[in-house]
Amino acid sequence: MFHNILSLIAENEAHYHRSPHSVSLLAVSKNQSVDKMRALYNEGQRSFGENYLQEALTKMEQLADCDIEWHFIGPIQSNKTRKIAEHFSWVQSVDSEKIAKRLNDQRPLSLPPLNICIEVNIDGSSTKSGVGKDDVFSLIDYCMRLPQLSLRGLMAIPEPSVFFEAQCELFHAVHELWLTCRDYLGDRAEKFDTLSMGMSADFQAAIKEGATMVRIGTAIFGERG
Ligand SMILES: *Cc1c(COP(=O)(O)O)cnc(C)c1O
Repeated sequence: MFHNILSLIAENEAHYHRSPHSVSLLAVSKNQSVDKMRALYNEGQRSFGENYLQEALTKMEQLADCDIEWHFIGPIQSNKTRKIAEHFSWVQSVDSEKIAKRLNDQRPLSLPPLNICIEVNIDGSSTKSGVGKDDVFSLIDYCMRLPQLSLRGLMAIPEPSVFFEAQCELFHAVHELWLTCRDYLGDRAEKFDTLSMGMSADFQAAIKEGATMVRIGTAIFGERG
């Protein structure tokens, strides 16, 4: 299934006039076994996404011999930020100044700055995590002042839809916001290169609309255990 997904990513890049290899794959391994992760690693996958801190820390120990880039992609509680800042390379679900500040302050100085994405809530639905469109710019400014964070882009989890057109519409809106953020950053935008959107059910629409990273779990690993 892994090679099917890699082929589909490449086919969609070509079909939608995206540059070859402009879309990277994050393998979302929450609730998947370490054996499956190791098998994928042996096939060449290096970036893995986890939602739950304790589960991730256990897997990190079991996969300590592997050169994995770990991404935290789940909701973040304040009391978890220290371990997240110490053990991950990326955090994609930053959605408040408070969490950004804690991650910055708790990132060990011996490590490179923590790569972060700001999670945006494009539908404006109040039940979901992520910052609204209008609040993203002040959070960008805030994060840019934190030396132990490297702001890499935006992450979004739009409302799922089975309809391709509806998927595209929301991803299109996220892409527009991402472009506006890049303009806003101007000559500070050098590292702002990531637009993380698209999951198993909608990654093809996300590639069409400009994702640079898709986060795929079940379509690679099978149903979560
Ligand atoms: C679980 C999860 C995914 C992957 O979902 P699949 O439908 O299994 O591909 C992607 N992103 C986030 C934030 C997730 O929590």
